[in-house]
Order: sequence, then C-alpha cells, then structure tokens
Amino acid sequence: MAKGKMSDFNSEYSRATKTVMLIAIAVFATACSPQTSERDGNKPTQRPNIVVLFADDLGYGDLSSYGHPYIRTPEIDELARQGQRWTDFYVAAPVCSPSRGALLTGRLPVRTGIYGNAIRVYFPGEPWGMPGEEVTLAEALQDRGYKTGMFGKWHLGDGPDALPTRHGFDEWFGVPYSNDMNWVGEPDFEALVKLSMSGDVEQQAMFFARRAAKYAAPEEAFWEAPLITSRKVDGEFVDTTEQPTQQSTLTKRYTEEAINFINKSGDDPFFLYVPYTMPHTPLFRSDEFVGKSLGGRYGDVVEEIDWSVGAIQDALEKAGVLENTLVVFSSDNGPWLKMHEEGGRSGLLRHGKGTTFEGGVRVPTVFSWPGTLPSGVVSEIGSTLDLFATVMALSKMPQDSDVTTGVDGFDLTATLLEKSASPRQEMPYYRGGALYAYRKGPWKMHFITEGAYDQGEARTKHNIPQLYHLLRDPSERFDVSEKYPEVMADLLAAAADHQQSVNIKGPLFDRRLMPR
Ligand code: MG
Repeated sequence: MAKGKMSDFNSEYSRATKTVMLIAIAVFATACSPQTSERDGNKPTQRPNIVVLFADDLGYGDLSSYGHPYIRTPEIDELARQGQRWTDFYVAAPVCSPSRGALLTGRLPVRTGIYGNAIRVYFPGEPWGMPGEEVTLAEALQDRGYKTGMFGKWHLGDGPDALPTRHGFDEWFGVPYSNDMNWVGEPDFEALVKLSMSGDVEQQAMFFARRAAKYAAPEEAFWEAPLITSRKVDGEFVDTTEQPTQQSTLTKRYTEEAINFINKSGDDPFFLYVPYTMPHTPLFRSDEFVGKSLGGRYGDVVEEIDWSVGAIQDALEKAGVLENTLVVFSSDNGPWLKMHEEGGRSGLLRHGKGTTFEGGVRVPTVFSWPGTLPSGVVSEIGSTLDLFATVMALSKMPQDSDVTTGVDGFDLTATLLEKSASPRQEMPYYRGGALYAYRKGPWKMHFITEGAYDQGEARTKHNIPQLYHLLRDPSERFDVSEKYPEVMADLLAAAADHQQSVNIKGPLFDRRLMPR
C-alpha cells in the first residue's frame, strides 16, 4: 500500500475539506438529512462506506496470513495486521449461489429458498433467480442514500428480473455465473441433465474426462463467459454483453471499475461489492502475474487478487475515505479439492467446497477500518449471514426503520469495535435443505457427513451423531461423542431449537427440473 507524507497530507486535507462541507450542510440543510449515525451516542461519526471483497473458492489455507508457505499475499496480510483476522468465520452454504444469497440477504438459504437439493447452484438460462421479495443489502443501503456498485460475479440467476441492478445495485459490471458455465462444444445445462439421467456410464465418463483435461490446461477458447455491463438510463435498465470475454483480464477490469466507482462517489456514502470470478477454476490471470508465484497457476491467481485488494485500498486512501470505510475480505466457500493443483487448500481444516466439514464453510476473513477497529486476531464466531445486520447497525440514522426482522444474522458491531464476545455462539451447517451439522461454542456435532465432487466419503447418517471439539481438534479427526453425554444432549437440544425456528422454503434451484 502506498503510504507517505504526501498521501497522509492529501487525506488530511480532504478530511478537512469534508468537515467544512459538513458544517455548511448542517447550516443550510433541513433536519431531514442528518450526516451522523446514531451508532455511538458519545462520538457521532459519519456513516461508513462499506466495501466487501469476496473471493470465489479461496480456501482457508490459501493466504500467507492464514499459513500458506508459498502464496504471497502482502496486501491482505497488511489489512489483517492493522485490522482483524477472524479465525472462525463462516459462510451459510458450501457452494456459490446459496452462499452469495445469504451474504446479500442475511438470511439462511432454507429461509429464502436460494438453494437446491438436486441442483446445487444457478445455471445459465435460469428463468428465475433472486426472489423479488427478498431485501438485499444493496437495496437496504440504497434506501439509506448509499451509492451501490458491484463489479464481479453474481451467480444469483441470469433471468430477466434477477440481475444485480434489479436488486439494489446502481451499476454492475461482471459475469452472471461461474466462469466454467459456458463451455464451447460441450453439453449445455439441458443436455447435461439428460446425460446425467441417461444412465449411460461410458458417455458420462468420457464427458467428465474431457472436461477435466480442459480444467487442467485451461485456454480462453474453451469457455465463452459473458461479461455484462448493467445500469439504469432514463429509468430503463440497459444491459450490454461482451461475449466471449477474456477471462485473464477479469481481475484487473473489476479492479479498475471498482476504483472508478470510488473516485466518482463524491460525498455520498457508498457500498462497493467486488465478488471476484477467481480463483474459481478454470484459472486465468493477467500477463503480469503469469509465473509470478511460487504456488503455480493457483498462486498467480491469488496473488493477482491480493494486488487488487491493495489497489482498492490505495484508491480509498487517495480519495480520503480510508478512515471512514469498513473493508471486509472473505471467500464464498472452501477450496475445490477435485481440481488438484488447479484448486486451493483448506489448511488444517478438513475437506473443502461442497461439504459441511470446516474446510467447506469456514473461510479466511479480514475486517479493516483504520482508526476504528482495534487490531488483532479474533477467535469469536461470525458469519457472512451477520454482515447484513452489522452493516444495518453501522449505517443507521435516527429516522431509519429497522429492516433486520426475519434476518438470521447477528449485529457484530460490539465484537468488531470493542472486541466483546460475539452474539453468535451457534452456527448451523446446511447442505441443500438438510441440516448436516451444528456448532455451539467450541463443539460441533455432525448428524450427516458426506464428501463432495468425488472426494472423500459417501453420505453417512449417524445414528449417534459425531462430536468434535473444534479448538482442540480443528481438523475434526477425533470423535468424542462417547466421552461427553451432557454436551451431546445440549447440542441436540440447540439444533432442535434451531430447526423449530425455521420454516423451510422449497428449493428454488430445483424448479428447473419440474415440467413447465
Ligand atoms: Mg464458490
């Protein structure tokens, strides 16, 4: 990060300018547009900008600050050093679409229906997508006068009413789903469903082998990902598509767009959401990063994301808003282990993407807000589910109504600002619509265990649930269910209470399999 006297001077200068402007506004504006938040009665502050940087399939062990010996991520490590590195931060689902839906709504996938039992994620040509009745973080912040911009992967439906600009983002530039979903010369979604239902084992094996070879030696020509620019012009949505796009330029282009968005935000608070397409396989990086990392192609890709995080930090600093901005860096789910060297690693956590073991849902997460967040390592429990309620608390003005009813998340403000105990002491682990495991305090109980993507064990329902102490055994290796009958009873009761509190909505992804 560029730090120096001149940039310090610039940010001081722009803060001073802003103060003068705020006084002018206070004098001339009516009482209906207060510029301070009611978060802290003693020390009113501006409502903060919110920046969420969200990697795709980045594992718990893939950053140097989380223990990777070869991949170098100095920018994210610096955020972690002056901000907070969380050790026990979870996503609400072990795959893309339901995890992203939960981040943006603050609600469990089983409550919103943004999940599937037969189909794991949204595929191209989806007729539906993000339900209109859900309130997204972007919509809630838009209502509070925030400018909202998204630059990256959506994966919450590409149907006509599903795109990000229809759900609270003023502008969007990015891909509508995963970067491996528009194969050239391979079966599309409908053909894939037919093939998987055909029972033709030989055809299926040939198909998977052909695809595996392409993942292992990726070329731009194997996929034709669409890159969409979307905004409202004169009250109408205008969506333009570049297809195919060069995947090797995506991280750089998202970064440039994010920086433009910061630079033009002016004095309005903003919400910037950058869900990177990478390091989801197939892996692509720009020329400057080819061969740069000791960690191979995967390392190159992660190091380019690290560069991007640094460039966005620099832009915040240059714009004079760094000290009024909460930055969160996280990942949508664990590493895609099936991809071998083309995928990430979950460090000492068990398993990866697709599973409800820790490696599937516990993700590297860093919070930064210079001058406001005390720095350190936080081993409280938190979740992307909690970002909605937390951001709503941080951005609340006296006239704002509470919009967190029906939300599954907790307000983590006190944990972030004062390092007090997290209000989240429990975490449910769902795979599709089924509760597979449950955490309370340091204890985790597995009702069902199952590998994913041809990795690991078959689905096993445990008549006597497995029990692990995650602090003493973070790799979930030693089942201690026989030793702790009281803990078993307590967790069974907690999980039952949780299940009672949720009315499970039907899985939206599976509607595509129903006759229309
Ligand atoms: Mg993902």
